Amino acid sequence: MSLDVRQFEAGEIVFRMGDEAVAAYVIERGAVEILITKDGEFERINMLGPGALFGEIALLDGGTRTATVRTLAATHLIAIQRSQLESLLAKAEPVVQYIVRILLEHVRRASGGAPGEARTLSELLALAVKTGETPELADKLKHEATRMLTLATNLVDAIAEGQLELHYQPIVNFTNRRLAGFEALIRWRHPTLGMVRPDEFIPLAEKTDLIHRIGEFVVQQALADWPMLKPLCDGAVEGATPFMSINLSAPEFCKPDAFERIAQSLKTHRMAPQELRIELTETVIISNVEVVSEVIHRLRGLGVGIALDDFGKGYGGLDYLQSLPFSCLKIDKSFVDKMHQSDRSKQIIQSTLELSSRLGMSTVAEGIEDKPTADLLAQMGCVYAQGYYFARPMSIPAIREWDAARQA
Ligand code: C2E
Ligand code: CA
Ligand code: CA
Repeated sequence: MSLDVRQFEAGEIVFRMGDEAVAAYVIERGAVEILITKDGEFERINMLGPGALFGEIALLDGGTRTATVRTLAATHLIAIQRSQLESLLAKAEPVVQYIVRILLEHVRRASGGAPGEARTLSELLALAVKTGETPELADKLKHEATRMLTLATNLVDAIAEGQLELHYQPIVNFTNRRLAGFEALIRWRHPTLGMVRPDEFIPLAEKTDLIHRIGEFVVQQALADWPMLKPLCDGAVEGATPFMSINLSAPEFCKPDAFERIAQSLKTHRMAPQELRIELTETVIISNVEVVSEVIHRLRGLGVGIALDDFGKGYGGLDYLQSLPFSCLKIDKSFVDKMHQSDRSKQIIQSTLELSSRLGMSTVAEGIEDKPTADLLAQMGCVYAQGYYFARPMSIPAIREWDAARQA
């Protein structure tokens, strides 16, 4: 986003009392005076210099200006449009949106333009409703914010009290439709909220050191469960070993001792490095390309597989394939889904499969939900399949049942 800098000569009016308010300003250089009109004359109520912000109520609720602002010298102002803030806010987390709304109400009240007497959070929220939001939206926001705050607060206990568990989703070999490996997917069995999915709490954990404890848990648990899961893998084709995929996020993979810890865990659990596969997304890679590249090279040297996850979802996938020694490409569900919409998408997948095979990588197609998709991908030469059509992620007891049922 480029800065909108506006230049004024000394004595120019920036805005007048009663004007429609659409932007706030930060003084980059120069000075302004804030004036109100009294008995038909301007009266100065304040002077502001570089770094000061004025007109900010506009950012919150628009309306009209309650004072006039005039420059005292040649002045540069950085304008912040209300629409800019709104679009940034729309992308912000619910907690941030919620807090901004509450602050907004405080500012409104303090500035005298306030609609109300609100004190509690819900009263403030009700006011937000009055100022143009639908009750449903406000309720949803409040619900999301409360849930997020609850999860963030409870996460420490979750780890200590063993509420985290790993579920495993089978990955199937397309050639014989039998089991080639598993992907470990974390779940949080929350005492009151039920099962919480990783998309909700991993981003919260990533903001604190908790992510390291989660990463440690995932590695230890997955490796500990492997002796039970490995014998179920009856679909490995020649030369291939059964494998366990785990997901690691940026802070976990970029730790100074990431390689040593993984190597040590493999030893402790007597797992062959070739049986472990670490899935990394583009986000992890771009977080710190140099460190990630070094860890990937060292792990590959040891024999550990590295998969580029969610391929086709981001932008830079091809770039990384050139420079990093991935052993596997995971084609994202969104990409797989598009295959049926157009021949073009199908061609892209076909080329991806060929490229991957030329680079000596295997491919896993993710999120396969029906037979036509599975059959088409198999026909196109994809090596591995993962998706609800074959099996959902399951707890260890559920996997035992699932395995017994498929053998029967
Ligand atoms: P991912 O690595 O892309 O994992 C695949 C996600 O797709 C999983 O969601 C899985 O349950 C879901 N999935 C599999 N097959 C299908 C299907 O046929 N249809 C649909 N609609 N979905 C399918 P899940 O378990 O909710 O995980 C979401 C994301 O959370 C994962 O995406 C991964 O990025 C992250 N994650 C999961 N476990 C861990 C973990 O242990 N550590 C870290 N750092 N991240 C994790
Ligand atoms: Ca994954
Ligand atoms: Ca994925």
